[in-house]
Amino acid sequence: MIRFQGVNKIYPANNFNPKPTEALKDISFEINDKEFVLIAGRSGSGKTTIIKMLIGEERPSSGRVFFSFIDEQKTIRNIEVNKLKKQDLPELRRQIGVVFQDYKLLPRKTVFENVAYALEVVGASDKQIKDEVPKALKIVGLESRSRHFPSELSGGEKQRVAIARALIHRPKLIIADEPTGNLDPYHTWDIIKLLLKINELGETVILATHDQDIVNNLEKRVISLEDGRLLGDAKKGKYII
Ligand code: ADP
Ligand code: MG
Repeated sequence: MIRFQGVNKIYPANNFNPKPTEALKDISFEINDKEFVLIAGRSGSGKTTIIKMLIGEERPSSGRVFFSFIDEQKTIRNIEVNKLKKQDLPELRRQIGVVFQDYKLLPRKTVFENVAYALEVVGASDKQIKDEVPKALKIVGLESRSRHFPSELSGGEKQRVAIARALIHRPKLIIADEPTGNLDPYHTWDIIKLLLKINELGETVILATHDQDIVNNLEKRVISLEDGRLLGDAKKGKYII
């Protein structure tokens, strides 16, 4: 469902960096439906850049990125992400739920409203919102917190809200970029177990992390990056950098 083919990415020089940065160098891999895949590597190795290519936020300098999914009419759609026009990006984004390290919740909205908002912006009806939001909150185990505000939640609970929001369009792919970066070990495993459960429910999950403990304990497929190069792609991988 996902294919990177010889992808290179060079970021131009900027105020922070007088030289261009080669963030990805000849990256190729495929990810099938329903896989659980780790993208592992130190900070700066290119993990987030791969994710940005997948959601069409950045384009490769060369190489190609493919994403296939089944659309609302049940037709298989094979799209080349790097060739998408701006107006076609929202459709792609609805197929992919993304979770970030810093949760990105709206502070003045409750848990329910944060998740509902993702439906409101695509014009969902009140009935859809009433039906779908509790289902997503149930999956992440937060039904009892739906009237709370983000400031009243632990880090782990905030990340659960972000995951519920990522699930709300029923995407086939969930991408989590360092989702446990702000969490203690207990809540870290809480979130990892939730991602495993979501994978068991049938979603493809991509988890980008620099956390060696997560990589070494999960025994899942690991795509390892070092300085923008693909260092390894192992079925039951360990942290190798
Ligand atoms: P990771 O997520 O593994 O920490 P990134 O993909 O964020 O790695 O970054 C890879 C490299 O690209 C780093 O050297 C980083 O400084 C550089 N980089 C990332 N984004 C930009 C940008 N917008 N402009 C310039 N350089 C960038
Ligand atoms: Mg990153």
